Amino acid sequence: MWLRYRSKISFTHSICDRDGLVDKNCKIQHIHKSCMFIVRVNVTKKFLDFKTIKKFVEEDKNMFAVYLKHTQDATAEKMVKWWRTRIKSILKANGYGRRKVTIYLQETSKYGVDIGE
Ligand SMILES: [Zn+2]
Repeated sequence: MWLRYRSKISFTHSICDRDGLVDKNCKIQHIHKSCMFIVRVNVTKKFLDFKTIKKFVEEDKNMFAVYLKHTQDATAEKMVKWWRTRIKSILKANGYGRRKVTIYLQETSKYGVDIGE
């Protein structure tokens, strides 16, 4: 069973050129506005309020921007991996134990990325 929090995030990023990169525009810093994302946290015996998940995720959003500022190769895969690790550690640091966390990030109207389970 999962608790699910959906919200939106805007961010600026770029990725490095590599074999298989079709859209070369991704190499230039660009903005994604109001991207929908969903964070899921598994249910355990310890009660976790929806509002607590919201608080942790929303309060940590600015760290996402800081992370992106310091990486030149912020692929969708790397972004959600980084973010998931943060949310897991925030939950643990606040006494909610080792939780399973999944993140879905809708980067554009057509494309998105999932991580976790
Ligand atoms: Zn992009």
